[in-house]
Amino acid sequence: MGHRLNNCKKALTLLNNTPHIQVLKQSTWVETKPVGFTQQKKFMNGACKIKTTLSPLKLLSTLQKIERQLGRKKTFRWGPRCIDLDILVFDHFKMNSKRLTLPHPEIKNRSFILKALKELPQ
Ligand code: ATP
Ligand code: MG
Ligand code: MG
Repeated sequence: MGHRLNNCKKALTLLNNTPHIQVLKQSTWVETKPVGFTQQKKFMNGACKIKTTLSPLKLLSTLQKIERQLGRKKTFRWGPRCIDLDILVFDHFKMNSKRLTLPHPEIKNRSFILKALKELPQ
Protein backbone atom coordinates (compact mmCIF):
# COMPACT_ATOMS: atom_id res chain seq x y z
CA MET A 1 0.00 0.00 0.00
CA GLY A 2 1.08 3.62 -0.40
CA HIS A 3 4.23 4.50 -2.31
CA ARG A 4 5.52 0.95 -2.60
CA LEU A 5 9.07 1.67 -3.75
CA ASN A 6 9.58 4.39 -1.12
CA ASN A 7 8.33 2.04 1.58
CA CYS A 8 10.80 -0.63 0.46
CA LYS A 9 13.67 1.88 0.36
CA LYS A 10 12.78 3.21 3.83
CA ALA A 11 12.81 -0.35 5.15
CA LEU A 12 16.31 -0.89 3.72
CA THR A 13 17.54 2.31 5.35
CA LEU A 14 16.05 1.34 8.73
CA LEU A 15 17.57 -2.13 8.38
CA ASN A 16 21.00 -0.77 7.58
CA ASN A 17 20.75 1.67 10.53
CA THR A 18 20.09 -1.20 12.95
CA PRO A 19 23.03 -2.17 15.16
CA HIS A 20 24.62 -5.51 14.19
CA ILE A 21 23.06 -5.40 10.71
CA GLN A 22 24.83 -4.29 7.56
CA VAL A 23 23.07 -4.28 4.19
CA LEU A 24 25.66 -5.54 1.67
CA LYS A 25 23.76 -5.74 -1.60
CA GLN A 26 20.27 -5.32 -2.96
CA SER A 27 18.52 -6.96 -5.89
CA THR A 28 16.62 -5.21 -8.65
CA TRP A 29 12.95 -4.46 -7.95
CA VAL A 30 10.27 -6.67 -9.53
CA GLU A 31 6.56 -5.91 -9.75
CA THR A 32 4.19 -8.89 -9.47
CA LYS A 33 0.48 -9.50 -9.57
CA PRO A 34 -1.02 -10.24 -6.14
CA VAL A 35 -1.61 -13.91 -5.28
CA GLY A 36 -4.25 -15.30 -2.93
CA PHE A 37 -6.27 -12.10 -2.58
CA THR A 38 -6.15 -10.73 -6.13
CA GLN A 39 -8.36 -7.62 -5.78
CA GLN A 40 -5.49 -5.33 -4.82
CA LYS A 41 -2.60 -3.36 -6.30
CA LYS A 42 0.45 -5.13 -7.72
CA PHE A 43 3.25 -5.86 -5.28
CA MET A 44 6.75 -4.40 -5.43
CA ASN A 45 9.38 -6.97 -4.48
CA GLY A 46 13.07 -7.01 -3.83
CA ALA A 47 15.62 -8.80 -1.70
CA CYS A 48 18.84 -7.84 -0.05
CA LYS A 49 21.84 -9.58 1.37
CA ILE A 50 22.86 -8.59 4.88
CA LYS A 51 25.66 -9.35 7.28
CA THR A 52 24.56 -9.79 10.89
CA THR A 53 25.59 -11.23 14.23
CA LEU A 54 21.92 -11.53 15.28
CA SER A 55 20.32 -14.96 15.58
CA PRO A 56 17.58 -15.83 13.07
CA LEU A 57 14.82 -15.24 15.66
CA LYS A 58 16.32 -11.94 16.79
CA LEU A 59 16.58 -10.89 13.14
CA LEU A 60 12.90 -11.80 12.65
CA SER A 61 11.81 -9.65 15.61
CA THR A 62 13.95 -6.79 14.28
CA LEU A 63 12.22 -7.06 10.89
CA GLN A 64 8.80 -7.08 12.56
CA LYS A 65 9.72 -3.98 14.56
CA ILE A 66 10.65 -2.18 11.31
CA GLU A 67 7.34 -3.33 9.75
CA ARG A 68 5.47 -1.75 12.67
CA GLN A 69 7.59 1.42 12.45
CA LEU A 70 6.55 1.75 8.80
CA GLY A 71 2.90 1.40 9.80
CA ARG A 72 2.10 -2.25 9.08
CA LYS A 73 -1.13 -3.33 10.75
CA LYS A 74 -2.36 -6.91 11.15
CA THR A 75 -4.90 -7.80 8.43
CA PHE A 76 -5.65 -11.05 6.65
CA ARG A 77 -3.21 -13.45 4.96
CA TRP A 78 -1.80 -12.07 1.69
CA GLY A 79 -3.87 -8.87 2.08
CA PRO A 80 -2.62 -5.37 1.23
CA ARG A 81 0.28 -4.18 3.38
CA CYS A 82 2.64 -1.21 3.32
CA ILE A 83 5.64 -3.45 3.90
CA ASP A 84 6.49 -7.13 4.38
CA LEU A 85 9.98 -8.12 5.55
CA ASP A 86 10.70 -11.83 5.40
CA ILE A 87 13.86 -13.87 5.85
CA LEU A 88 14.41 -15.92 2.69
CA VAL A 89 17.54 -17.80 3.71
CA PHE A 90 19.91 -17.55 6.65
CA ASP A 91 23.21 -19.13 5.65
CA HIS A 92 22.45 -22.86 5.45
CA PHE A 93 20.17 -22.80 8.48
CA LYS A 94 17.10 -25.02 8.45
CA MET A 95 14.25 -24.72 10.94
CA ASN A 96 10.52 -25.21 10.97
CA SER A 97 8.75 -23.69 13.94
CA LYS A 98 5.51 -21.76 14.27
CA ARG A 99 7.42 -18.50 14.43
CA LEU A 100 10.10 -19.07 11.81
CA THR A 101 10.60 -21.39 8.85
CA LEU A 102 13.95 -21.34 7.08
CA PRO A 103 14.46 -21.28 4.17
CA HIS A 104 11.22 -19.35 3.52
CA PRO A 105 8.61 -21.94 2.43
CA GLU A 106 7.33 -19.93 -0.56
CA ILE A 107 10.70 -19.51 -2.32
CA LYS A 108 10.03 -22.18 -4.93
CA ASN A 109 6.57 -20.71 -5.73
CA ARG A 110 7.75 -17.14 -6.31
CA SER A 111 9.91 -16.60 -9.38
CA PHE A 112 10.90 -13.08 -8.32
CA ILE A 113 12.57 -14.56 -5.21
CA LEU A 114 14.53 -17.06 -7.29
CA LYS A 115 15.60 -14.22 -9.58
CA ALA A 116 16.66 -12.07 -6.61
CA LEU A 117 18.61 -14.92 -5.00
CA LYS A 118 20.55 -15.39 -8.24
CA GLU A 119 21.51 -11.72 -8.09
CA LEU A 120 22.70 -12.09 -4.50
CA PRO A 121 24.97 -15.16 -4.40
CA GLN A 122 25.74 -16.44 -0.88
P1 ATP B 1 4.23 -15.27 3.22
O1 ATP B 1 4.89 -16.15 4.26
O2 ATP B 1 3.35 -16.02 2.29
O3 ATP B 1 5.20 -14.38 2.51
P2 ATP B 1 3.43 -12.98 4.80
O4 ATP B 1 4.88 -12.61 4.72
O5 ATP B 1 2.44 -12.03 4.28
O6 ATP B 1 3.20 -14.39 4.07
P3 ATP B 1 3.21 -12.30 7.54
O7 ATP B 1 1.85 -11.87 7.97
O8 ATP B 1 4.22 -11.22 7.23
O9 ATP B 1 3.05 -13.29 6.31
O10 ATP B 1 3.88 -13.22 8.63
C1 ATP B 1 3.19 -14.25 9.28
C2 ATP B 1 4.16 -15.00 10.20
O11 ATP B 1 5.09 -15.76 9.45
C3 ATP B 1 5.06 -14.14 11.07
O12 ATP B 1 4.44 -13.78 12.28
C4 ATP B 1 6.32 -15.01 11.29
O13 ATP B 1 6.38 -15.49 12.62
C5 ATP B 1 6.10 -16.17 10.34
N1 ATP B 1 7.28 -16.59 9.57
C6 ATP B 1 7.66 -17.90 9.42
N2 ATP B 1 8.76 -17.99 8.67
C7 ATP B 1 9.12 -16.73 8.32
C8 ATP B 1 10.19 -16.19 7.53
N3 ATP B 1 11.12 -16.97 6.95
N4 ATP B 1 10.25 -14.84 7.37
C9 ATP B 1 9.32 -14.05 7.95
N5 ATP B 1 8.27 -14.49 8.71
C10 ATP B 1 8.17 -15.82 8.89
MG1 MG C 1 5.87 -12.46 2.79
MG1 MG D 1 5.98 -11.58 6.22
